[in-house]
Amino acid sequence: MIVDTHIHLDDKSYFDDLDDVIQRATSNSVNGALIPGADPKDLPRAVEICEKYDNIFFAIGVHPYHVRDFDLEYLKSFASHPKCIAVGECGLDYYRLPEGESEKIEEKKIQKEVFIAQVALAIELDKPLIIHIRDASADSKEILINHEAKKIGGVLHCYNASDILLELDKHGFYFGIGGVLTFKNAKKLVEVLPKIPLEKILLETDGPYLTPHPHRGKRNEHAYTRHVLSKMSELLEIDENQLEEVITQNTNTLFKEFS
Ligand SMILES: [Zn+2]
Repeated sequence: MIVDTHIHLDDKSYFDDLDDVIQRATSNSVNGALIPGADPKDLPRAVEICEKYDNIFFAIGVHPYHVRDFDLEYLKSFASHPKCIAVGECGLDYYRLPEGESEKIEEKKIQKEVFIAQVALAIELDKPLIIHIRDASADSKEILINHEAKKIGGVLHCYNASDILLELDKHGFYFGIGGVLTFKNAKKLVEVLPKIPLEKILLETDGPYLTPHPHRGKRNEHAYTRHVLSKMSELLEIDENQLEEVITQNTNTLFKEFS
């Protein structure tokens, strides 16, 4: 069995057929999922899903696109829920910065402050981090190292793979590999993959986004984690069952709550 360590099951695109989505995952032996926090107003929905289904957990956090809605006390009010197992997804995203120079600087400043606050929250709660990094590798790495994220570690949701992040494996970080690996233009991730220590690889979909081949263009779901695993097995030349075993072990080491 495998676990999808990053899927937004609280997204509205799953509202109508979540039972079927979970059923399809189960029949593909994808028996667990972690819902990262992105937009804080979706948190009650994530809680509702986790209370209904076994082996589905959630994280409290604010995605860099929602930094203006960051409210520490609100996030903390969900922290003691038995299914809250991580903090994130938090991080830096410089892909969609505003036009003007001073607006750019201001946006980066807010993103950094909110990111640092969430690293501190994870340390306080003793829960691992789920990190989102896009076009901001150097700044993200600096924050994680300077703010001692090492104390709790976590997973880098790294569809925007970069060599400079690899060093973070020494700081307790795992690397979440998703559907981008199956894309024809995934050159960077394909190059980086063999450099990641095998015991630091996790699987994710980032559903409903980044749907892997051969379902590209459709909504993503955690059953498709299987396509990522197959592609990874082909690229690394490791038997798929063996790889599945290693990744399951990795998942249970970082997120002990999965069974
Ligand atoms: Zn995400």
